[in-house]
Amino acid sequence: MSRRTATLRRPHWTGLAAVTEREQSAPDWHADGLAHVWLPYAQMKTAPAPLPVAATRGSRIVLADGRELVDGVASWWTACHGYNHPHITSAVARQLATMPHVMLGGLLHEPAALLATRLAALLPGDLDRVFFTDSGSVAVEVAMKMAVQYWINTGVCGRKRFVAFRGGYHGDTTGTMAVCDPNEGMHRLFHGLLPEQIIADLPRDEETVAALDRLLAERADEIAGILVEPLVQGAGGMLFHDAAVLQRLRALADKHGTLLIFDEVFTGFGRTGTMFACEQAGVVPDILTLSKALTGGTMPLAATVASKRVFEAFWSDDPMHALMHGPTFMGNPLACAAANASLDLFAREPRLAQVAAIEAQLTEQLAPCRDLPGVVDVRVRGAIGAVELDAIDIPALKAHFVEAGVYVRPFGRIVYLTPAFTIGEADLARLTGAIFRVLSSR
Ligand SMILES: *Cc1c(COP(=O)(O)O)cnc(C)c1O
Repeated sequence: MSRRTATLRRPHWTGLAAVTEREQSAPDWHADGLAHVWLPYAQMKTAPAPLPVAATRGSRIVLADGRELVDGVASWWTACHGYNHPHITSAVARQLATMPHVMLGGLLHEPAALLATRLAALLPGDLDRVFFTDSGSVAVEVAMKMAVQYWINTGVCGRKRFVAFRGGYHGDTTGTMAVCDPNEGMHRLFHGLLPEQIIADLPRDEETVAALDRLLAERADEIAGILVEPLVQGAGGMLFHDAAVLQRLRALADKHGTLLIFDEVFTGFGRTGTMFACEQAGVVPDILTLSKALTGGTMPLAATVASKRVFEAFWSDDPMHALMHGPTFMGNPLACAAANASLDLFAREPRLAQVAAIEAQLTEQLAPCRDLPGVVDVRVRGAIGAVELDAIDIPALKAHFVEAGVYVRPFGRIVYLTPAFTIGEADLARLTGAIFRVLSSR
């Protein structure tokens, strides 16, 4: 590997003022690529340079200079079995040798058929019809299209809007931005582009239950569905609500005759302590979306799963009643093979017990953060630990975390951990210890 050392070119386009010694040993591809790569959620001019990463293993990220960071994020909550699990990598390698891709237009392959069958068996109730896509946002878009077309197919006109909730996050595409929290989704900036949706408060208490009930009574005939992240609103701030909220939503959806959609893109596959968050409420939605941990964090894949009631509205002799959606790479065999291997691991290895152990360790080891100045709240659910601050200097915090040998990526006023379920006790202690130390020294 060739590395730039003393004579690092520091072009203006990296926008990076301070060049640390570490950065000076960044590989050529890093400096060269920074001129052309556009990174997510980053002010390219002022954001610290991304860390050059060379490899991943278990719950560690290996940087190009050889340093290893304990990963507290699991690559945006996806790598639930840790990185490079041999059972997944070998399943993908086998699939690569036979058929890396074939379209689902007029064809069906074993990895997709098997995955749909397995998801239908795992999900509660009659959620048993699986539509594959390649990202969480698109899975939510498909859920919304499904809901709108459900009403059209059943002969009901005008139900085209969704009720979603403050603090929610459902994706970055235009359709899904409109159902995100108005501030997080930057509705104002994109006014005129985004469809207007109805953003309400979660029905947490008498007042908010009554408000939602009134809203649904007044506008039921324009509402196609209610969309919510069950138990944990993730990207909106790691906000928790209890199972009763979901039971109220089911009751209100039934009372006003609308559909209930659970976005389990984040919560699905064990993250909150059960395989799916909806199980904790004993509530079965009409449509459910999955993505992030579906392939164990290895390949892009998502699924929108419909209940029998929803699918039946599309089962017709009228070609116009077919679901009009079909991403080019939907049901990619490599991704489906990875997802099937990931489900094997959930069946074979004690993942949910590991989540329970992580929950206990996070609860104990993040508790001391409560007493630190500037800490507003500490909360833990399943393998999710969040420390909420009153204010935050994210770039400074990030640098301190890297110095402490961990990868933690705060957002908003939240410092959080969503580690791999396979993380060892010592590595998890390193993460919680780093959070305590970094927050103490603010
Ligand atoms: C991440 C996320 C999405 C969007 O998924 P992408 O794969 O990033 O498009 C949607 N809903 C929830 C709840 C998410 O956490």
